[in-house]
Amino acid sequence: MTTDNIKTVCEENVLHTYNRFPLVIEKGEGVRVTDTDGRVYLDMAAGIAVFALGYHYPGFDEALKAQIDKVIHTSNLYYNVPMAEAAAKVVAASGMAKVFFTNSGAEAIEGAVKAARKYAYDRDGTTDHEIIAMKNSFHGRTVGALSVTGNDHYQEPFRPLMGGVRFADFNDFDSVLAQVSDKTCAIIMETVQGEGGIHPADAAFLKKVRQLCDEQDILLILDEIQCGMGRTGRLWAFDHYGIRPDIMTTAKALGCGVPVGAFLLNDKAAAHSLVPGDHGTTYGGNPLAMAAVSAVFDIFRDNDIVAQAAAAGDYLAAGLDKLAAAHSCVLEHRGLGLMRGLALDPGLPVSEVITRARQKGLLVISAGGNVLRLVPPLIITEADADECLAILDECLA
Ligand SMILES: *Cc1c(COP(=O)(O)O)cnc(C)c1O
Repeated sequence: MTTDNIKTVCEENVLHTYNRFPLVIEKGEGVRVTDTDGRVYLDMAAGIAVFALGYHYPGFDEALKAQIDKVIHTSNLYYNVPMAEAAAKVVAASGMAKVFFTNSGAEAIEGAVKAARKYAYDRDGTTDHEIIAMKNSFHGRTVGALSVTGNDHYQEPFRPLMGGVRFADFNDFDSVLAQVSDKTCAIIMETVQGEGGIHPADAAFLKKVRQLCDEQDILLILDEIQCGMGRTGRLWAFDHYGIRPDIMTTAKALGCGVPVGAFLLNDKAAAHSLVPGDHGTTYGGNPLAMAAVSAVFDIFRDNDIVAQAAAAGDYLAAGLDKLAAAHSCVLEHRGLGLMRGLALDPGLPVSEVITRARQKGLLVISAGGNVLRLVPPLIITEADADECLAILDECLA
């Protein structure tokens, strides 16, 4: 099939819920992808913060292939080997007590919400509990995840959604306090808002929310689906803040391209929430996905991937600061580690910058509110960052 054929066949058959960029990605290698016309791009989008290790990191494909040759699915009615390995690694790496594996980020949010409600139900014997979520947040597209996503445009056509959700302003503690009642069972937020435009939590805000949750036995759910797995230069974004969640979610880079997510619970939440019959999944924890998670944690440990991300993040940030200073169309540069956003003047639509960049061999994406988003593989070198910065410099001119 020619490139045009592929696009046409996709548009004729796949439900049109995405306006796709006009390129067909055929393969990837390292931090670069190649399209069906043979053009090579530096990939600073990484499948939306998924390919933390880039494409074909040594050892990763081999681990997947070895598992394919054994068994790729067993169901959760039986134990499997890679689940034991992956679960032990993610639990140890997170300091949480228990993990439940899902197939996606949205499902991890669903599980986290159910666990919080069950915790409060067991404690109080009532079912009228409320969750406080943040405006400008993003937690996924399923009905439960959408219900805690603070975006009217995403929610509107699908109402009524799950009830008992109140929204507060992110980074405004008084606004959170104003939503708290004796019905509040959980507060959910991204440690760094991603889709909303790359907004890190303020340290004082997050600490106060943590303290509030401790005082009132409210569970703090941190969504680390985009900002976790080394993205911010620490394994979890909350590591920057010296606080810990009661429940956390992860996905995107967890399987580095193999669809997998998870929610994790601390001792308190694990001991008093979901029990047999409360929650389940056919595919979640499947051996192929678990082999991916297990390999990702091994590769992260053996190659100091998080330290690499921290160093690359500092380097990229310094370059982006310079770009922001040099171009008046850049209103602000925000981010942590390798999760970076450039807020652009409304006079320069981010889509135009993305198109210009693509024409120059650079893949970047947007986030809410005219923000250019950079979420590259964690293994980018200084030369890769320089290439990206030079192209952006031209595109912003
Ligand atoms: C991507 C994302 C989700 C949803 O993950 P899916 O795998 O697309 O369902 C949830 N929360 C955050 C912060 C995300 O970035």
